[in-house]
Amino acid sequence: MKYCRFNLNRQTHYGAVEDRNGELWITNLIQPPEEDLAVRLKQGRSAAFGLQPMTLSSAELLPPVTPSKIVCVGRNYRAHVRELGNEMPTEPLIFLKPPSSLLPPGGVVRLPAVSKRVDFEGELAAVIGRRARNLKPDADWRNVVRGFTLANDVTARDLQNKDDQWTRAKGFDTFCPTGPIVSDELDLDAGLTLETRLNGERRQHASTLDFIFSLPQLLAFITSILTLEPGDLLLTGTPSGVAPLSPGDRVDVSISGLGVLANTVESS
Ligand code: MG
Repeated sequence: MKYCRFNLNRQTHYGAVEDRNGELWITNLIQPPEEDLAVRLKQGRSAAFGLQPMTLSSAELLPPVTPSKIVCVGRNYRAHVRELGNEMPTEPLIFLKPPSSLLPPGGVVRLPAVSKRVDFEGELAAVIGRRARNLKPDADWRNVVRGFTLANDVTARDLQNKDDQWTRAKGFDTFCPTGPIVSDELDLDAGLTLETRLNGERRQHASTLDFIFSLPQLLAFITSILTLEPGDLLLTGTPSGVAPLSPGDRVDVSISGLGVLANTVESS
């Protein structure tokens, strides 16, 4: 199942998404997945409304989720830990981005004047489908995760290094591009290849098999602290290759099966 969230005729809708010969299309309107869309669809309680199918690229897309919180993992790829000169973590390092930092696919990342270095961080994001608390590391993550999407954990690197905690560095408006779709059709166990391009040039290329902490380990750690709610986002960390952004740049984050999260960059 793949879906997106978009505006049409000044109303917000969720749409079922299909891959037609390599291009993503919105084929139907579906009910909002406040709880667990997969279960609701199986139970037949989600009405499908008529929609003239349209390509995803022609739609006015929104972030595909409306999270109560965005939980992020820092330093979860070995090569990225090394490139920033950090110690290899012995437990997950987590932080929050505010939902106000969400930016739709195609939206403009605004570089704050207070920062001299803002980096992209392409990431795989898990979308929570069911309330979760105190999960065991051996629990099946598929019972909790509705699907996956793409995110860019935009970071003011100089402020991250200056501040003792990262709310400012990670929390500016537009610092969390997310989308374009949510899909549960990916095989995480086989490893997903994440790629980030800056102005068309490949800068990040890594497999999620290089995770330091697996998704079940992250879910167990996070839910030992806080309750995850349906629609919450879990950003699983960025691989090596982070680099600064400049006005006029374009960033494309992609994983096969999730489309491309494309955003441009401008001064604030
Ligand atoms: Mg990150």
